[in-house]
Amino acid sequence: RRGWRRVVRVLEELEEGCATPVGRLRQVVDAMAVEMHAGLASEGGSKLKMLLTYVNNLPTGTEKGIFYALDLGGTNFRVLRVKLGGQRSVIIENDVDRQPIPQHLMTSTSEELFGFIATSLKDFVEREENVSEPSLPETRELGFTFSFPVKQISSSSGTLIKWTKGFSIQDMVGRDVSQCLQQEMSRKGLNMRVAALINDTVGTLALGHYHDEDTVAAVIFGTGTNACYLERADAIIKCQGLLSTSGGMVVNMEWGNFWSSHLPRTSYDVDLDGESPNPNDQGFEKMISGMYLGDIVRRVILQMSEESDVFGPVSSKLHVPFILRTPMIAAMHEDDSPNLTEVARILRDTLQIPDVPLNVRKLVVKVCDVVTRRAARLAAAGIVGILKKIGRDGNGGVAGGKGKVGSQIKMRRTVVAVEGGLYTNYTMFREYMNEAVAQILGDNVAEHVVIRVTDDGSGIGAALLAASHSATA
Ligand code: ADP
Repeated sequence: RRGWRRVVRVLEELEEGCATPVGRLRQVVDAMAVEMHAGLASEGGSKLKMLLTYVNNLPTGTEKGIFYALDLGGTNFRVLRVKLGGQRSVIIENDVDRQPIPQHLMTSTSEELFGFIATSLKDFVEREENVSEPSLPETRELGFTFSFPVKQISSSSGTLIKWTKGFSIQDMVGRDVSQCLQQEMSRKGLNMRVAALINDTVGTLALGHYHDEDTVAAVIFGTGTNACYLERADAIIKCQGLLSTSGGMVVNMEWGNFWSSHLPRTSYDVDLDGESPNPNDQGFEKMISGMYLGDIVRRVILQMSEESDVFGPVSSKLHVPFILRTPMIAAMHEDDSPNLTEVARILRDTLQIPDVPLNVRKLVVKVCDVVTRRAARLAAAGIVGILKKIGRDGNGGVAGGKGKVGSQIKMRRTVVAVEGGLYTNYTMFREYMNEAVAQILGDNVAEHVVIRVTDDGSGIGAALLAASHSATA
């Protein structure tokens, strides 16, 4: 087949365009720390929104009692009941109920949507309390994970900025989300208080902190990507005076929208962005998260196919956006069979490209590797950027002098909680990311930094925050 050399050239250009040597990653680290600072200095000061959460006490492990959580963020919602024994004992998660949101409610009214949720919640509570201890708490406490853009007013209330993900309930925009739920709960006769209104990264941080008090940041790598971390209150310049300068507050970075000229960008990224419904938005996310990695790989294969015969005639499937999903590129990338049978299968079944020779299949694996490695290494730079901002990167950061021994800085143990299907299911992504964190920090510092997976921050984490923000806490 003709064009092999042209295809190799496409690959080489991709590798050059996606290069992430440590020096460049350090520039991304610096840019992240600078943008964080700018976003904290003034409203609109950076592409990083750096949203205040008003969460200033994270669970410590001593929480006790029964707490509920409601997780609403997409086409399903979940209700949980979590029993905490104090002393960081094992979380006894009594039950979870998961239900799809009926399509028509996604575009109805807030009364209808929250009425439906409140009814489900009430049924769940009644079922649960019938089968377990009859001694009911006076008021039940709820942690509410609401994964849409919210302007927080306090740790338990905030107004909806806009709907995303197919929801469109116009009367809700600008209204207090907790109040809408609270109102429907009382209408249905359910005695429950929204003790915390959070997004999913904050839940992950809460769960991480519950397990390990050295946890200072949380990052999600799933369909999208986002991060939050614990900031000193006096570093949040944009609301000085409003906050007491003692203590800290969790800041929701909305880091998917991060951008820097140091990010290695290819023509495939430019095209993907240009053809997306939100051009110039979520630039970091478009290079890193599970929603997009597969589509970057598709674009490269399309280019290779158009420039050569190595894939046979150009398959029309290669023109279909998002047809190649990230779990598929993971499966191809991690295909360890000698003949790359999984690669052949996906090329045949998904892209309708049959009979791809072995050397071309190897090329496809290499494309997956380049795209995922770049994503993982940029993700690592983002994490180190957070550590740098809070002085946990081994260079003393803002809090200079503290803990210095001679010119040596004593590094405190630092834990970052991580969640999301991309990180937990895609081994190569995980390994590349951890490797890059260590490379950027250097081994001496990296040995104090722990990346730790948590499970279900948006559920259990929300219940934990209800506990640490409960009326009786
Ligand atoms: P969410 O959609 O709320 O982010 P998850 O955290 O479970 O939910 O992440 C799901 C995403 O993780 C998927 O959209 C996909 O991009 C990615 N993912 C899931 N499984 C795999 C896999 N085996 N390999 C690579 N990525 C995966």
